[in-house]
Amino acid sequence: MEQITKEFTEKATAYLAEAENIIIVAHKNPDGDALGSGLALYHILKNKNKKVTFIVPNQLPTYLNWMPGIEDVIVYENQKELGIEYIQKAQLIFMVDFNHRSRLSEMGDKIIPLNVPKIMIDHHPYPEEIADLTYSRTSSSSTAEMIYEFTDAIYGKSAINKKAADCMFLGIMTDTGSFSYNSSSQLTFQVVGHLLSLGVNKDEITDKVYSNYSEYRLRLLGHAINTKLTVLPEYGAAHINLTQKELEEFKFEPGDTEGFVNYPLSIKEVEFTAIFIEKDNYTKCSFRSKGSFPANLVAKEHFSGGGHTNAAGGENKDTLANTIAKFESILPQYKKYLNQ
Ligand code: 5GP
Ligand code: MN
Repeated sequence: MEQITKEFTEKATAYLAEAENIIIVAHKNPDGDALGSGLALYHILKNKNKKVTFIVPNQLPTYLNWMPGIEDVIVYENQKELGIEYIQKAQLIFMVDFNHRSRLSEMGDKIIPLNVPKIMIDHHPYPEEIADLTYSRTSSSSTAEMIYEFTDAIYGKSAINKKAADCMFLGIMTDTGSFSYNSSSQLTFQVVGHLLSLGVNKDEITDKVYSNYSEYRLRLLGHAINTKLTVLPEYGAAHINLTQKELEEFKFEPGDTEGFVNYPLSIKEVEFTAIFIEKDNYTKCSFRSKGSFPANLVAKEHFSGGGHTNAAGGENKDTLANTIAKFESILPQYKKYLNQ
């Protein structure tokens, strides 16, 4: 469904009328849009006197620790018993900014089988049918923009309070790289215009997001680009990798490597980039691309992942070295997608 229909609004309104205990869930390694959309909905529903809890599978990024309501978010990995308690009490579940059960990790085993209404709001392609109601708009800048539309459809624009507006703005801003991509529609700017009129301070939020890192994070970026970047012009590709030892050396905090994968795209002949990050028993992969090069296809076909055409991710249950070797070996298959 590319637009909220009357039928969707009626069903969602009926579900909301029946539910007092509501949970919102977002994807693992939550980013600005996952937290922005989940927390915006949290603030809206709380204002409507619902008992609402926002649960994410794992760690929150340190650079977003100032978001309104972030202290109320339950991190399932750290507070499993409490999380399960809320999940079992839930009469309605919102799933935001993801569309695949795998994105919930093991928390999905508790959520997916639950026999309560589920509403999915998300902008990623190829949604899995795991909700009773799905609002999926792949052309949307962000899930946060869709939460704005959802709120407007259900309660009217007057229901958007300042905290929700801040969270919506944060989600839209981070998912569009500060309005550099996925943000050419008039609607995005109409929504942002309205959010600004509600008192959102754009400069303050920009500052909190982009000027809130440690010195170590900047040095880690310098290290990654200066010594860990490989460019493969023949395939229009580049990759960066970081070992656990390097992350420790630079006092890594969750979220520190966010955005690193974009930098090699500034090289003229590079259309496809990857970053590989060593974890305990797997390698986390992030991909970015220019134009029509399908980063999500590579993620889906080789790295148990998915995402958008130009921003995708996944993982490989193998060492860092083997993951890099695999990536380089599959590049010839994708040469046909290069734009230049
Ligand atoms: P990031 O590289 O910022 O972690 O993720 C970029 C995009 O890739 C996300 O918005 C999401 O669409 C997708 N993505 C990242 N990791 C995964 C994953 O493990 N599985 C799937 N299906 N998509 C992912
Ligand atoms: Mn998103």
